[in-house]
Amino acid sequence: MGEGTYWTQAWNPMTGCTPISAGCDHCYARDLLRRFPLLSGSDDYEEKALTVRLHRHRLALPARWKKQRIVFVCNCGDLFHEAVPDEFIWRVFDEMIGEHRHQYLLLTKRAERMAAWVAGALPTVCVDHMRHIWFGATVESAEYEWRLDHLGEIARAGFRTWVSVEPMLSIVWVRRNAWFPDWVTVGAETGPRARECHAGWVDGIEVQCRRVSIPVWVKKHPTNPNPRREMPPELAEVFGSHDT
Ligand code: SF4
Repeated sequence: MGEGTYWTQAWNPMTGCTPISAGCDHCYARDLLRRFPLLSGSDDYEEKALTVRLHRHRLALPARWKKQRIVFVCNCGDLFHEAVPDEFIWRVFDEMIGEHRHQYLLLTKRAERMAAWVAGALPTVCVDHMRHIWFGATVESAEYEWRLDHLGEIARAGFRTWVSVEPMLSIVWVRRNAWFPDWVTVGAETGPRARECHAGWVDGIEVQCRRVSIPVWVKKHPTNPNPRREMPPELAEVFGSHDT
């Protein structure tokens, strides 16, 4: 996650992950778990922070939140990590489908597993009951644009999708076989070890999205030291379109 947030609540029914691609080098979840080890249910942050752990006692939390929220699901891990059993993913979906006052943002670098799981577990009759769930994939560089193919499979089944190009490590083409996600967020890497990001790459994503009227939130821009922190109105409109 970079500057600014598009969610109002994090929900971590599981925590932990292992690096899978270049975008993981300065993993946000790892830093968070190191700073707040109890999030993972462990006080041994060095060795255990990235161990995948299931926290079944947290499954029912969304039902307890009185106010409607935009919930980031597993900002301290990857729900579609190979160590998370299908049965547990179902439990998480069960909660999300049942508690549809909130909107839920899923984000994974394991888009192939997410697509396979959706195809096997969610019949298309579910689509109308899942307008409050957003399936997201991270595509940090052109090398991982193939993740968009898997996200496209989910979109073609009628589910809502989004793409995070963070941290942006190369130019990325978010249009894939005439398909676009519902919205995109893009940003340069932040922090002292931030890798190079060219302004033209970020501008390129903006142009692609604006051409087809897809909301895009440019977060940290290489030439802008004061990135926008609040949600752009067109994206707020997309979230507002959710029927509760
Ligand atoms: S997939 Fe995400 S949570 Fe997992 S190691 Fe990479 S950046 Fe961290």
